[in-house]
Amino acid sequence: MAPALEVPAAWFASAPELPGHCVRHGLPATRREDFVVKSRPKLSPWRRTLLPGHSSLDRAGEYARSVKLTRVSGWPLCGRCGRVRTAGLVLANVLFFGGVAMLIASLVLRAQADGPVPMLLVPILGAFAARGPRRSSEGRECSHIV
Ligand SMILES: [Zn+2]
Repeated sequence: MAPALEVPAAWFASAPELPGHCVRHGLPATRREDFVVKSRPKLSPWRRTLLPGHSSLDRAGEYARSVKLTRVSGWPLCGRCGRVRTAGLVLANVLFFGGVAMLIASLVLRAQADGPVPMLLVPILGAFAARGPRRSSEGRECSHIV
């Protein structure tokens, strides 16, 4: 597995000239995208929240104080990265708007039913199944801002 690429946030703020090749694959860029990159700050271990005097709220505050958002303009993407990005955006929109539609449909069905509707459990279980197991952020091949 390739090591993570660490890029200083100040470098992006200086509006650098970005390469003409995909950073991940080294292939020629077929398009450029603007987006916001979020840093992955190093936090205290989650086990600390188990100690008296510490809570998940403290950890959330620590995250909010240390996370950095940096706007990136014209980031080069190869064809493969562009397809993955497009598929991810389409999937995110389908899940979001499909979820809203399912929520509204379930409210309408429940309002029209006289008693419990066991079929309404299907979208809830489907959402849990679609979420899948939580993956650790350790060892993922991804660029991030420090
Ligand atoms: Zn690529």
